[in-house]
Amino acid sequence: MMFKTHLAFSFLCSIILWPFLSGSNIPKWAFVLVFILSSVIPDIDCNSSVLGKRVKVIGWIFAHRGIFHSIFPAILISTPLLIFFGAGYALASFTGYLSHLVLDMLNHQGVGLFFPLSRWRIKGFMKSGGLAERLLFVLFFVGIFIMMFLSKS
Ligand SMILES: [Zn+2]
Repeated sequence: MMFKTHLAFSFLCSIILWPFLSGSNIPKWAFVLVFILSSVIPDIDCNSSVLGKRVKVIGWIFAHRGIFHSIFPAILISTPLLIFFGAGYALASFTGYLSHLVLDMLNHQGVGLFFPLSRWRIKGFMKSGGLAERLLFVLFFVGIFIMMFLSKS
């Protein structure tokens, strides 16, 4: 899926999830920021992605939609956040990373959640950058506006 679709989806997810975490140690802006930043990390394994272009070495070593599109980096990144910053930051990072994987599951290439331990992949029907994804992008934007409106009233 495209960078902008991941941004829109992670922003929407973070503002939907925030009310459930408002009692934790993390301020709203930090929750949203950590969530969105974590949601763009998985595509570091793709040399043509926004992040992968800047750190090409990872794309040379690791296959696209391999281990970086599994649950393991999400655990690896959120564990130190849990230890040093607390549960709010760890949850923001973990769920943000997961939001990327969930969205990529809609794609026909799919995601192997437990790769390389398991070859099982969850696949969808969407083509990256195709009409269905562009429609989703618009839907996410509508969702963001509704959430913004709801939080103001
Ligand atoms: Zn991806």
